[in-house]
Amino acid sequence: MILLFALKFLWAVSKKILKYTLLLILYVVATLLGFCMMINQRYQIITKLIKFTNNALEVIHLVLGIDLKGWFRRRGNRSSTKSTFDDGPPPPLPENSENAIQFLLKENPERPYRILCVSNTDSVDQIRNHYRKLVRLVHPDKCNLPQAEDAFKILDTAFKKLADPEKREEINSEMERQKAWDEFNKNMSEDYKNMFEELLNTIQCSSCEKRHKKTLVEKRTFMEARFCAECNTKHPAEDGDVWAEVGMLGVNWTCYACFDGEVYEITDWGKCQNLKQAIPVNHHRVFCHVGTQAANKSGRSRTPRNSEESGNRGTKRSKKNKRRK
Ligand SMILES: [Zn+2]
Ligand SMILES: [Zn+2]
Repeated sequence: MILLFALKFLWAVSKKILKYTLLLILYVVATLLGFCMMINQRYQIITKLIKFTNNALEVIHLVLGIDLKGWFRRRGNRSSTKSTFDDGPPPPLPENSENAIQFLLKENPERPYRILCVSNTDSVDQIRNHYRKLVRLVHPDKCNLPQAEDAFKILDTAFKKLADPEKREEINSEMERQKAWDEFNKNMSEDYKNMFEELLNTIQCSSCEKRHKKTLVEKRTFMEARFCAECNTKHPAEDGDVWAEVGMLGVNWTCYACFDGEVYEITDWGKCQNLKQAIPVNHHRVFCHVGTQAANKSGRSRTPRNSEESGNRGTKRSKKNKRRK
């Protein structure tokens, strides 16, 4: 008897230790990940990695017809709806035997409160009352539908668990733990989502050591990206190009950049980097580059390539874009 008790105690303790060790490992991994992100922020490696994974998944979808992204999304949805802890109100009592059997067979045996259509704050009398009502519907002596016996077994097990105060206490504390764990997971994934989103929609600034907003300009393609007052047309931009434009009366100074074949507005970044004074607006040439380690804000400048060259580049790029879609 003592031995059994000791074994039970040891098992409970080791289960707890295991759980906390796992939590600790998770924290260490999360911290390391965060640290790596901080280092990588500057060179946007993670941003590129996300984009690369995204593109790779789309290529797989296009070439092999396997929708991995959809699969991940569906899995995510399924696991979030199939949470072990459910805060929702208890389901209504089934009205006839057929419904009751269907209901009992599909409920999770680990959730006795739901099986008895009660909440965890309901009294034992209330639980017994629901149990009797359900027994009348599914007891094999009273119901000759197939699977009535299986349904009754599920119902009976659930009731026995809740009728025993000790077991009920255990179930309640397990539910509390689950709830805390779910909450922790939810917060964690939200934090990471926000972090990724921030990385994708901001640009690192070397002046203030912070990140500034970058907004995708959907109306512009890299082929017609930079407005040139001299030629009165829009020239193509290359990855890393940064340029500035102003409106008709010299107002609305706006700073743009080209990343991964897309045009972004990065005016806040440009102002913080003092580009308003450093680079001419609506100019034929590109005076500033970012994104690569070698590039700096006033290093090299570039004039647009001749039409033949940029044409070639265009077809190469559009092929790449087509594949991406
Ligand atoms: Zn700044
Ligand atoms: Zn020009």
